[in-house]
Amino acid sequence: MMRAFFGGSFDPFHAGHLAIIQTILDRGLADEVLVVPAGHNPQKPDPPAPGPHRLRMAELGVAGLAGVRVLDSEAERSGPTYTVDTLAALAAQTPGDRWRLVLGGDNLADFGSWRDPDRLLALAQLLVFPRGAAPLTVPPGLAGRALIVEGFFSPVSATAVRATVAAGGRPGKLVPQAVLDYIVAHGLYRRGGGGRASAPGREALPCP
Ligand code: ATP
Repeated sequence: MMRAFFGGSFDPFHAGHLAIIQTILDRGLADEVLVVPAGHNPQKPDPPAPGPHRLRMAELGVAGLAGVRVLDSEAERSGPTYTVDTLAALAAQTPGDRWRLVLGGDNLADFGSWRDPDRLLALAQLLVFPRGAAPLTVPPGLAGRALIVEGFFSPVSATAVRATVAAGGRPGKLVPQAVLDYIVAHGLYRRGGGGRASAPGREALPCP
């Protein structure tokens, strides 16, 4: 079985993430997509929304899609989390499966600064989605280990979604409707109050 590991902040889960997942499934690039909202990303400042909110938004964003699972293995942990550790643990559970690691083109250039990139490359092939209209350059060390998904285009970013909400706007089609409803209901990303909203109560989350 070919599995795709799709990690990210998902702060929030947006239409670009959904388009990536649908493209993977539609083109048969993997049999299953595992969406893994990150805990604390060591390379980014703290995300505006706590892990449990980001986890729930990812769950809402993929609800009803066959072939997709959202994992809480990183978002529910405190302290830094590393893709290589999570992926290695998953791979060990399903020996014989092959893995693809999903990346936006913007993440490709700095892949070498991730924790243990060589081990990651031994575990998975990179599945790279061009980011917006930006030209995609594969670093020489990654040639042959990166599969570029040609013809993919989505201009959406979480930064733009957060900025729209903070400015009092509605991100409309930038996020799935259920995610938008969640953002509004929890006051996420609003300037002067919702930016670092408290985590939802455990009762708001489905049982694993
Ligand atoms: P931010 O704007 O906060 O940086 P983001 O929109 O990049 O967030 P992430 O959760 O960090 O969202 O994205 C997870 C992964 O999906 C990353 O590898 C990112 O490059 C990729 N990605 C997100 N949106 C797109 C998009 N529109 N096109 C291609 N790749 C994307």
